[in-house]
Amino acid sequence: MVDPETTRRRARLVLRRLKRRYPEIGTALDYRSPWELLVSTIISAQTTDENVNSVTPVLFERWSSPAALAGARAEDVEQVVFSTGFYRQKTKSIITMSADLMDRFGGVVPDDLDDLVTLRGVGRKTASVVLAEAWGKPAIAVDTHVKRLANRLGLTDHTDPTKVEFDLRELYDRRQWSGISMRFIQFGRDVCNARKPLCHQCPLNELCPYPDKTPAPK
Ligand code: SF4
Repeated sequence: MVDPETTRRRARLVLRRLKRRYPEIGTALDYRSPWELLVSTIISAQTTDENVNSVTPVLFERWSSPAALAGARAEDVEQVVFSTGFYRQKTKSIITMSADLMDRFGGVVPDDLDDLVTLRGVGRKTASVVLAEAWGKPAIAVDTHVKRLANRLGLTDHTDPTKVEFDLRELYDRRQWSGISMRFIQFGRDVCNARKPLCHQCPLNELCPYPDKTPAPK
């Protein structure tokens, strides 16, 4: 980063504008407990939140606790999560995570990042979603949208998600961390999409140093 003060100022303005655009924002995943959000977030890999929400009511009706899911037969769970894709891997992850949660945490989802990432099948991104959304704790989940926006907006020059997370942590006050990811993700879907960002109608345009902005249509 060339000038830390300029970057910090830009970061502040970016978040202020995104807050104006999305005053209230949270995960679109349906959940009633931290464990349900953990399971839903694992299932949400490579699919839409709508797809996840279409299977989780059945899933949580049949296996309503970590203990129940830990003891489930994989074939039965696979049938329920089948339509979300990668169903074998996802089934294995949510069963082993639930078993691990029972064994080491008495079935209670920890509210600490270092503990959460020790659960089998739980990475920093999933752990941060649960911390920020279910526990209301400061955490920044870095997915592909957050990574892309942070790079285009010059808030990081890293592509490794953990390094991007730490650059964002440096730029923002802890109290703001949990409001960052969902806004970046939504803005990445609505405006700053991967292939053809809508730069000509972007409210962050004059702040953004991205060299390959999409020109306005003629
Ligand atoms: S100007 Fe373009 S690249 Fe920059 S944030 Fe806006 S949409 Fe993304």
